[in-house]
Amino acid sequence: MRWQMSRRSSNIEDRRGISAGGAGGIGCVGLIIILVISYLTGTNPLELLQQVGTDTSVSTRAPAPASGEYDREKDFVSAVLGDTEDAWTRIFAADGQRYQPPTLVLFSDAVRSACGFSSAAVGPFYCPPDHKVYVDLSFFRELDRRFGAPGDFAQAYVIAHEVGHHVQTLLGISDQIEQLRRRMGEREANALSVRQELQADCLAGVWGYHAQQKNLLEQGDVEEGLRAAQAIGDDLLQKRSQGYANPESFTHGTSAQRAYWLRRGLQTGRVDACNTMREGEN
Ligand SMILES: [Zn+2]
Repeated sequence: MRWQMSRRSSNIEDRRGISAGGAGGIGCVGLIIILVISYLTGTNPLELLQQVGTDTSVSTRAPAPASGEYDREKDFVSAVLGDTEDAWTRIFAADGQRYQPPTLVLFSDAVRSACGFSSAAVGPFYCPPDHKVYVDLSFFRELDRRFGAPGDFAQAYVIAHEVGHHVQTLLGISDQIEQLRRRMGEREANALSVRQELQADCLAGVWGYHAQQKNLLEQGDVEEGLRAAQAIGDDLLQKRSQGYANPESFTHGTSAQRAYWLRRGLQTGRVDACNTMREGEN
């Protein structure tokens, strides 16, 4: 991907190496230990936390490079985010609307957002109430090593997918889905979540189409993205972790579905081609 040509976004918040303050900086393991002690002794966990005090083990697994050092990963993320801003600003403007870009938060280990306390293990995510995308850069290394999906376009797709959730929020789609989900049983609600995720994949593709128009894509980039979409399909993830796939518990769609919808966005470049809710769609 020729991302060096892209405008850099300034909507980046760098929280790497900063404690998420989940429990006064004691970290997840510390918190679990405290909860166990509290359970065994019948002590209020908040009291125990006060006794432990703050800042005993702030984890800095992936700190930001020292100032002055070139930070390639951050530069890459800023370039991709900047390009999504340009693409979505144009798409929204064509419809007479104004695009309000999200903020992208870089973090390591764990982070606190309006959606609560999240460890890096959950992977990149979007939090609708604060309009922020959260990315732990170690996920990109995982995408390469664990999921066999290397390449800068694979990483860009992941960022664009989260931005896709932001677009769904701005368009009011996420709210509508949330309201419907509340009135449904678990199985139907899961199926609707899958449709929402597939739409975010398609919207990532819509960005990819615009990046293609600007000649940012190189030979093999589309395949890189499709490989990533397939690698993080629910069926594959579940087979890896439990040996079998259980379609009812899918939350993101199968590998084939994810690749289908990403390709659909990439080929059409149109938001109205991303109607994953329509009956009879893949
Ligand atoms: Zn998603």
